[in-house]
Amino acid sequence: MEYNHEQYILNKICEFRNRETETEFMEYEKTVSFNIVRFLMLFMGLIFFLFAIPDFFNYGKGQLFYITAGLRVIILLVTIIAFFVLGSIKHYRHTLIMVTLVELIAFCVYLLILYIFKTSQPAPMMLFIFAAFLIPNVWKNCIAAGCIMLIGYIFLNVVFGLPKEVPPLNQRGIYLGICLLSFSIFTYSRENSRRKQFAAEKLLEFMSMTDRLTGIYNRSRFDYLLGQWIKNMRHDPFCMILFDIDNFKKVNDTCGHTAGDEVLAGTASVVAANIRDDDIFARWGGEEFVVLFGETGIERAAELAERLRKAVENNNCGEAGKITISIGVVQYRRGETVTGFIIRADEKMYEAKQAGKNRIMVEG
Ligand code: GH3
Ligand code: MG
Ligand code: MG
Repeated sequence: MEYNHEQYILNKICEFRNRETETEFMEYEKTVSFNIVRFLMLFMGLIFFLFAIPDFFNYGKGQLFYITAGLRVIILLVTIIAFFVLGSIKHYRHTLIMVTLVELIAFCVYLLILYIFKTSQPAPMMLFIFAAFLIPNVWKNCIAAGCIMLIGYIFLNVVFGLPKEVPPLNQRGIYLGICLLSFSIFTYSRENSRRKQFAAEKLLEFMSMTDRLTGIYNRSRFDYLLGQWIKNMRHDPFCMILFDIDNFKKVNDTCGHTAGDEVLAGTASVVAANIRDDDIFARWGGEEFVVLFGETGIERAAELAERLRKAVENNNCGEAGKITISIGVVQYRRGETVTGFIIRADEKMYEAKQAGKNRIMVEG
């Protein structure tokens, strides 16, 4: 278990340099921001469809109205289909591309409507640019969609010479351009701060579950994980060892607290090096530690405990010299509480101390 600051450095385009962190962040965003995208798209499709009402009052019931109303229905259908497809897409990259595509398809249909009505009102155009930034996406996609929309709008006006609206095209272009620029700056800085917030949350999460001196899990994380193991019984059968450093007070008294701290950190790293990644290793408190061995019966746990005892005994702890530990070994019994399980391990460890220390005591 470790936290590496390097993993959370952003590159120039506001992505985590580390690919794994980037994927982890996007997966996180998928659960907190992107899950509302499909609802927003559907909502926008519906709003776009409802614009048929002002069309009706402005242009009457003619053929033009039916054509444009049909185009609005097509957009609504596209957003309905997108709603269901987005619900089943697993990969965030595909989600984001699809969102951008749906926005651009809707915009193309809008341009067609402008062309049919021979008009070029800038107000709905603002709404389109706004939607491209409002619907959660990565800043690059938002800006790309916004630019394509602005260019498409100007292109339509210039090439097809749509009737002159007030204000003139160059002024409208500038207004929309300023809009696009300010949304772009806002989106970029929002994404930048979300990523920094994500990195800060990760650091906090790491600190809240780690013991600072030894770098292994702390007691609260251990309690949580043990609770999970008991709840889902996925690691059944599983065993716990609880060990305590022998005569540790003497180390502190003769070599000082700094040497004592080194003994704690050194012992923890020897044990960590001798267990599997899936085992849960934590500092229980003071100079007491616990390990959970998943899918492990009591005989195997006793072998592992003995191996750890020897590894610690054979390790030289610098100024403090040789260190030994006393270990209690117990297997989880179905229905037992967290406290009951730990008390049994503690009793076994205490028996090991009573029996002369530097030994393991196994239940049963
Ligand atoms: P026993 O063999 O019976 O376990 O004897 P012991 O001397 O280890 O006895 P005890 O468990 O009473 O002593 C624990 C000592 O550990 C007391 C406390 O000052 C020290 N200790 C607890 N946490 C830390 C720590 O973080 N750093 C240091 N240096 N000492 C600690
Ligand atoms: Mg002790
Ligand atoms: Mg103790």
